[in-house]
Amino acid sequence: MIREVEYKGKVIKYNLERKKVKNINLRVKPDMSVYVSANNRVSLKYIDEFVIKKADFVLNAIENFQKRTYTLPQPKYSKQEFSEYISKSFDEIYKKFKIFNIIKPELKLRKMKSRWGSCNYVKCIITLNTQLIYCTKEQIDYVIIHEFSHLIVHNHGDEFYKVVEKFCKDYKRIRKEMNKIYLR
Ligand SMILES: [Zn+2]
Repeated sequence: MIREVEYKGKVIKYNLERKKVKNINLRVKPDMSVYVSANNRVSLKYIDEFVIKKADFVLNAIENFQKRTYTLPQPKYSKQEFSEYISKSFDEIYKKFKIFNIIKPELKLRKMKSRWGSCNYVKCIITLNTQLIYCTKEQIDYVIIHEFSHLIVHNHGDEFYKVVEKFCKDYKRIRKEMNKIYLR
């Protein structure tokens, strides 16, 4: 159910869903929509008031997501340059990982909304996000190293990052920078 409240002359639209939650939950999504879930017992008046109480937070969150959208990065390569770089880097990183006696994983490219890459170590497939086209070569290399490291250590524990660090000394800084890039 879509509802509207007014706060300081601004209209806040929110999507209300009745759910078996404890009381009320409010969330601003990256697409800037406001989502509220509330228990059936909570009255609409109470929910509207709740949203108004949280209005500063909501408007602030929307503004932040807007800023992120405006500063969306531009592709850094042509599609061809990009796929050439990916396969070149993939081959080079595989050579380094040969010390672990692994077989060469299959490389797949796919658009993903929430992560840069994934590793299916059972089937030995590494999938990379096509949105890496917005990333620097250093960042692309990091993601490939990260996914290759999952062939050795499956989780994200200390042992895992030891493997990553072996091939990418600066991984902490790179990871931090990449977290700021908005994936669509
Ligand atoms: Zn990982």
